[in-house]
Parts: sequence; C-alpha cells; structure tokens
Amino acid sequence: TIRTRFAPSPTGLLHIGNARAALFNFLFARHHGGKFLLRIEDTDRERSTQKAVDVIFDGLAWMGITPDEEPVFQSTRQARHTEVALELLEKGLAYKCYCTPEELKQMREDAMAQSKPPRYNGLWRDRDPSEAPEGAPYAVRIKAPREGETTITDLVQGEVRVANAELDDMIILRSDGTPTYQHAVVVDDHDMNITHVIRGDDHLTNTFRQAMIYRAMGWELPEFAHLPLIHGPDGAKLSKRHGAQSVVEFRDMGYLPEALCNYLLRLGWGHGDAEILSREEQIKLFDLDGVGRAPSRMDYAKLLHINAVWMRQADDERLTDDVLERLKAVDGVQVNDTTRTRLLALMPGLKERARTLVELTENAQFLGRQVPLPFTEKAKKLLTPEALQILDGISRDLAAAPDFTAETIDSTLRQFAEREGHKLGQVAQPLRAAVTGSTSSPGIDATLAALGRDETLARTGAVLH
Ligand code: GLU
Repeated sequence: TIRTRFAPSPTGLLHIGNARAALFNFLFARHHGGKFLLRIEDTDRERSTQKAVDVIFDGLAWMGITPDEEPVFQSTRQARHTEVALELLEKGLAYKCYCTPEELKQMREDAMAQSKPPRYNGLWRDRDPSEAPEGAPYAVRIKAPREGETTITDLVQGEVRVANAELDDMIILRSDGTPTYQHAVVVDDHDMNITHVIRGDDHLTNTFRQAMIYRAMGWELPEFAHLPLIHGPDGAKLSKRHGAQSVVEFRDMGYLPEALCNYLLRLGWGHGDAEILSREEQIKLFDLDGVGRAPSRMDYAKLLHINAVWMRQADDERLTDDVLERLKAVDGVQVNDTTRTRLLALMPGLKERARTLVELTENAQFLGRQVPLPFTEKAKKLLTPEALQILDGISRDLAAAPDFTAETIDSTLRQFAEREGHKLGQVAQPLRAAVTGSTSSPGIDATLAALGRDETLARTGAVLH
C-alpha cells in the first residue's frame, strides 16, 4: 500500500510551500487508500523547541491534515542512523575520513581557485586508516560511484540525471557521531516504508545523494515527486515582501482553512476548471499527474476570492465562535451570551458581506457595543435634523410593533415610509447609522431583529436625546 510522509524541520513557522507539500502527500495517500505519515525532523536540537514543533502540529490540525500513525521524531532514531552507517562501513561501502578542518578548508579553497564546485577529493577513500593519528576524530563518508550517471524518474519532473563524477563522497556520520540530514532521511524513509516521497523541488539534487545510500544498502528506492516551489506574484521566490507566507499568518488574517487548502491545491494542480473543491472531491480527484512542472505564482487576490466563497458556505455557529474569539481583542466590545445571540442571528447577512473573518469581525463589532456608540464620519453626516425627525417617527412605530421579527420590522418600515411620504432609504439610513454607528450593514430588518427591540430603541434614543 501507498505510504507518504510530510517531514518538516521545526523552524518556528509552517510555510505555505511546506503546507502544500503536506496537503499533496495527504491527498495522494487518501486517494490511493494508503497512509499519510508525519516525521518531525528535529535533529537541530537548538531550533527544535516544543513551540516550533507545536506550530507544525497546530497548523496541520487547523488544515485538517492528520497523520494516520503516531508522528516520528527523527531525533529519537539516532542509534538506528548510526547502526546503518556502521553497516556501510563494515561492508566497505563507506569509510572513515580523518581530514582535519584545515585540510577540508584547503580543499575548498583549491576547488574555488580552479572555479570548481567545492568537493571532497576522496583523500581517505583508499588510504589506510592506520595512517591516522591515534584516537583522531573521523567522519564516515559514503563511497560515491565515480563513473556513469544516476537517473531518477521523478513523477513530476520526469527523468533527471546527474553524472556520478559530480557527486562526492558525502558525510553520513559526522565526527561528533551525529548523522547528517541526507543519511537520516533515507534511513527513516526506508524504515517507515515510505513508497512516495513528495516534497519541494529544492530537494531534487539531494535525491541523487540520497539514492547513493539506498543503493549501497541494497534498499529499493521510493518514487519521488518534486513539487515546483511557490513564487511571488512577480515570479521571484516567495518572501516576506510579497505578503503573508506562513499558515499562522493566513489564519490570523481571517482565512478559513478550507479556503487556504483549496487555494494551495489549485496552485500547481488542476482538474479542468474545477475551482471550489470540497475535501472529498479533492481526495477523489487528486493525483500526481495533475501537478504542473512550472513554478506557481502566489495570487493573493484569488485566495481572497476563494475565501469569500468558502465563508458564504460556512456554518453560522462555527463562524460565530471564531468571530467571538476575535471580538475579545477589540476595545469596547462586550463578548457575552447576548453578543453571541445577536451575532448568530445576523450571521447569514454578515458572512455574505465579508471576504475574511477579520472583515467579518470588523462588521460585527457594533453588535457587542453599548450606547453611546462610536460613529464614522459618514454616519455622523447622515444624521441631519431632518433625518433625526424621521428617526424619531420610526422609533415610535417600532416601539409599537406587535413583535420584532425581521418581517414585522420590514413591514413597519414600509408602512411608515408610505404614510409619511419618504423613500425607504430615507428611513433605513438614519436607522442604520443610529444602531450600527456606520453606513453599511446587512439588511436593516435583519440588523434590528438581531439587536432586539430594547437595544434598538436604546440606540435610537441615544441619538435622539
Ligand atoms: N526536513 C526537510 C525540510 O523541511 C524535508 C525533507 C524531505 O521532505 O525529504 O525541508
């Protein structure tokens, strides 16, 4: 069965490029009825704090990408990495290198002087270890093939090849006994029975090096699929100056995880013109043959559009709970059961008008405020003496209305407007300004109904007196 993995290094943030790799691994495994695994590559103990690991766990959980087995922590597997390195040593497929830092430095400088890439010259490959000083520290290097070429048939990139002369005898075990990244990845992927390695194409050249270890151990290579990176709108590598690039940033900016996943999927993978896809549809349709080879360009406007679509489809209770959390951070806004009831009641109208949860939160603030409300300049201007007169009249009718449903409010407004010879807007606008402090909101009938009669009259009263 198919087994994929996401193998992030805990750097403190979950970059959307990595998040997309996680999503593709997840969807590919699900599509084929396989398993999706998570491996935390926490060998850099200084960077790999619990906080940095939590960023990954939280980000994945938020996106609904859950591993099918317990996560593997690479740092716990060091003994196994060493074991494999020693096995290669024993078989004569790796060797001890006693080069001093000075010698290695000299090697690099010599290569640079000849404008060659810095490469290990194989000094200890055939040298007798007994020539090394007693107890001198050594690194373990793998014997790279010197002739021929290595070919990888990548499921996205196609056939990629490198002349073996380009590969040097890389270190698999450092002189301090720690395994190198290339070595640990191979041993772990092998032991975890990974069948498909799907990752960013910045790892493509590593694949040739990793292939050496598989071959030396006589292990079957997994399939590889290297995904093109996500670039900025201008085609340069995505960076801070383009905008948000980590999962947490998008969450804070008010994006729904479904929208971010939907967008990241469509970025670099296509299925006809299907744009909005549920997770079920994604699983059903996803396969690696739909992944393009060209780098994708981040389109923030498109993401915003997709988010707006997902917002409109989202469950009212869920949006309410999220917005309530965000409202807690807003000065002068009370977050209690009353606020919740009002917010939930008005949610159908609010979610139509906001593209992000941040916008929605902004538009919903008035529900949790108390008189006197803060007013926007536009709203203030609207409340002319004539408008206040209308407001006074309609307030009386609203006070006398038989109930306070949106329907009753609507007919009360219409009857008042007709009787007094006003246009409906002339009645609705001062009302809206008085109860929201602004000039835009969902329909006035739904807005007043959400506030309830007492609060509505308290707000109009505060403006009138
Ligand atoms: N830990 C590596 C990274 O975060 C990924 C290794 C891999 O996917 O093979 O870039």
